[in-house]
Amino acid sequence: MTVILKGADTASAIRNNLTEAIHAYHLTPCLAVVRVGCKDSDLAYEKGLASTCAKTGIELKVFELPETIEETAFEDAFQKINQDPAIHGILLFRPLPSHLDEKRITQLIDPSKDVDCMNPVNLAKLFMGDTDGFAPCTAEAVIRILDHEGVSLNGAKAVVIGRSLVIGKPLSILLLSRNATVTCCHSRTRDLAGECRGADILISACGAANLVDETIAKGLDASCTAIDVGVNFVDGKMCGDFDFDAVSHYAGKVTPVPGGVGAVTNTVLAAHVVLAACRMAGYPDVKL
Ligand code: NAP
Repeated sequence: MTVILKGADTASAIRNNLTEAIHAYHLTPCLAVVRVGCKDSDLAYEKGLASTCAKTGIELKVFELPETIEETAFEDAFQKINQDPAIHGILLFRPLPSHLDEKRITQLIDPSKDVDCMNPVNLAKLFMGDTDGFAPCTAEAVIRILDHEGVSLNGAKAVVIGRSLVIGKPLSILLLSRNATVTCCHSRTRDLAGECRGADILISACGAANLVDETIAKGLDASCTAIDVGVNFVDGKMCGDFDFDAVSHYAGKVTPVPGGVGAVTNTVLAAHVVLAACRMAGYPDVKL
């Protein structure tokens, strides 16, 4: 019988730790959201974030900038937020409008406030195993679920499908740093089903509905934990990359979409804001 891993369980355990830390260290953590324009997808994510911040005790400040803003005006506004000592974390919604130099802007963010790992400094820290930085939230959310569910990473055969800079690559590095043996697959992988066969941990982060189908699923067994990061819409209905019925028939544990990784991602962001506040208040060794 497959166990369905609900992201809400992991998220709630993380939130409890955050609330305790906020009280124990007398913190007033604050997250700044910088949004250019009013895209529906940004507003939807912001709404979820506002709810997580309210439940946790984090102040949320939204800076909405006009879509027509010029580069210099944007950088001035961004630097004010960057330098405000009352702000501990910054989330910038991307992609930015094409007239803004996104590469330059992501390098402006103070790495100690870069709670979603935009600045290459934090990516470099991740690759170097330096835990002073912040990992990309979705990649870390996967690790948090595995840890919360007691899945052992040490020596595990982990297969990650997807190699983007925000999920697949950093997740592969996080798994490797926890002593998993990692195979990272992508659109040019020759024999995807063969690579996935016998995985202890299978993660798909592609954005391709039904990519992990019956052919791949039948190579999994009850010792496999399968995590679906993908978000797709088929006939208006949200789904992941898994053929959920097939994967849950073979794998022992599986995350659903919706209700899996997505439910943990913004709680990890909240954890990074509290961690940043701890570090700025002089508690650098706190683990959350
Ligand atoms: P991305 O930048 O488009 O990367 C997708 C990756 O999947 C690429 O490496 C691509 O390979 C690989 N891929 C695509 N089709 C494939 C196929 N048929 N076979 C094998 N590999 C394939 O996407 P992303 O930003 O990493 O996001 C991935 C998914 O996660 C999306 O569905 C996104 O909506 C979702 N997401 C979820 C959350 C959450 O909290 N749950 C958060 C963010 C994103 P190549 O490199 O060879 O092109």
